[in-house]
Amino acid sequence: MIYDLHSHSSASDGALEPDALLLHAAESGVDALAITDHDTLAAFGRIDSPFPVPRLIPGIELSTTWRNIGVHIVGLNVDPASEILRRGVRKQQQSRSERAHIIARRLCSKGLPNMLDAVLQIADGEPACRPHFAEYLVSSGIAKDTKAAFRKYLGAGKPGDVRHCWASLPEVVSWIVQSGGTAVLAHPAKYRLTKTKLRDLASDFRGAGGTAIEVVCGQQSPNTTTHLAQLSRDLDLAASCGSDFHSSDNCWSRPGGFPPLPNDVRPVWTTWQTHSK
Ligand code: MN
Ligand code: MN
Ligand code: MN
Repeated sequence: MIYDLHSHSSASDGALEPDALLLHAAESGVDALAITDHDTLAAFGRIDSPFPVPRLIPGIELSTTWRNIGVHIVGLNVDPASEILRRGVRKQQQSRSERAHIIARRLCSKGLPNMLDAVLQIADGEPACRPHFAEYLVSSGIAKDTKAAFRKYLGAGKPGDVRHCWASLPEVVSWIVQSGGTAVLAHPAKYRLTKTKLRDLASDFRGAGGTAIEVVCGQQSPNTTTHLAQLSRDLDLAASCGSDFHSSDNCWSRPGGFPPLPNDVRPVWTTWQTHSK
C-alpha cells in the first residue's frame, strides 16, 4: 500500500482540480491519497470521483505560528462536515483577508494606488496574499518584476510585510482532533530549526494533542529521515509521509514521490481503526 498523506488541489494552491489530482495519484501508483489544502475544505465539495483507487482521505493543512515562526499542521481523516473545523476554517480565511486589507492600506499610505480590488480579482476567490500583490505591481508597471516588487514593497521590513494572525497551535490542533482527525506536524525539516528547537516544537505540539509527525515529506535526505524517525520514536508520535504535491512543474514532484518510511516507526494509518471513504 502506498499512502500519500499530503497534497494540494486547486481548492488552494495546487494546479489540479481534485478529481484530476486523484486520477494523477492513481496513475502514479498511490493507493490512498490525503488532499490537504491550505486552510480550506473546499476540495471535498468538488469531488465526483468514480475511481475506487486511490482511497481518498479527507485532510487539511492549517497555518499557525509557534514562537513567531510560521508552522503548518496537517489534519488527516477529518470530517469535512464538522462544524468545529468549518468554523475554524472560516476564522483562518478571515485572518487572511484582514491581512490583505492591511497590506493594501499600508501600500496606499506609501503613495501607491489602492489595489485591493484588483488584487482580489487576481486571487480569483483564493485568499489574497503577497504573490497576488506582486502580480498586480508588475502588471501595472509599478515594479519591473516580482523580485523588485518584493524588494521594494512586500519583502521583509517593507510596508507589505504584515504578520499573519493565525489561530494558535493548541487551537488548530483542537479543531482537527474534535473533527475526528489526527493532527500531524507537517514538514518539520522546512522550518530550519536547530535540533533542540525542533524537539521543543514537537513536544509543544504533542502537549496540545498532536499525535503524529511527517517523518518523510517529499524528496529529502536520508539524514533528515533518520533524525525525524528518531524524534517520532522519542516523543511517541506516529509517523506520516506525503509528497506535498502541488503541480507537475517540477519533474521530480509527483504523488507518491518520496522515500518509504523507515521500519522502526509506527505509521499513522495503523492508528486508524477505519479508513475513510
Ligand atoms: Mn502550498
Ligand atoms: Mn506546508
Ligand atoms: Mn502543503
